[in-house]
Amino acid sequence: MAQTLSGLEGFFKNWKLSSSKVELGLLPSFVHLPQVLSKLKTESEWWVGAQDCSTEIEGAFTGEVSARSLKELGCKVVLIGHSERRQRAKETLESLRKKLDRAKEAGLKPVFCIGETEAERLSGKTLDILRAQLGALEAYSGSILIAYEPVWAIGTGKIPTLNEVEEAHSFVWKLAPKAEGVLYGGSVKAENARELAAVSGVSGFLVGGASLKADIFEKIVESVL
Ligand code: PEP
Repeated sequence: MAQTLSGLEGFFKNWKLSSSKVELGLLPSFVHLPQVLSKLKTESEWWVGAQDCSTEIEGAFTGEVSARSLKELGCKVVLIGHSERRQRAKETLESLRKKLDRAKEAGLKPVFCIGETEAERLSGKTLDILRAQLGALEAYSGSILIAYEPVWAIGTGKIPTLNEVEEAHSFVWKLAPKAEGVLYGGSVKAENARELAAVSGVSGFLVGGASLKADIFEKIVESVL
């Protein structure tokens, strides 16, 4: 979620669903975490998380936010390995492993993102890429959610076919059977949420653009209820 303060205020003002059979979470930017946490403190069905964390718990790492600080603030989860972080921060398997460990030590549940680029899908490498990315979990034993997010589907309006989603999710479940859930992310909208939610192996969604406005996000929630 990339929001402005006024956008966030609008989100909470317009949110109408009082309780839901769906678990909901918000992952705002670091600076908006306190505001979101104070709004959602009493809403037990919501969990709040950050979009990244440092590979370190303490030390001289200017500009980084540790998993421990996020936990102290009240976060329950942290996104690790989002494709934008992988690309922009040149994340390696090693740095992702460290982040997973820091999250676990701090008592945060990682939402570990994986997904292939368009070129990788077109050259038939999707499952190899997912396998390689899931290599970061080899020594990880804590609770975890995995988010399958094809990079080419993020913010583009394009989604894989339902068969492709099912193939990727069943592959992820095979390699990570202890995951608490495998979410799908990438251009989820009210119009496609119901059919995506019905795909075998899809436990929920990671929603970007369509989560910024309460009424649009609510339509996604309603369409899967
Ligand atoms: C994302 O940013 O991870 C994402 C899934 O975005 P969108 O839903 O807009 O494709």
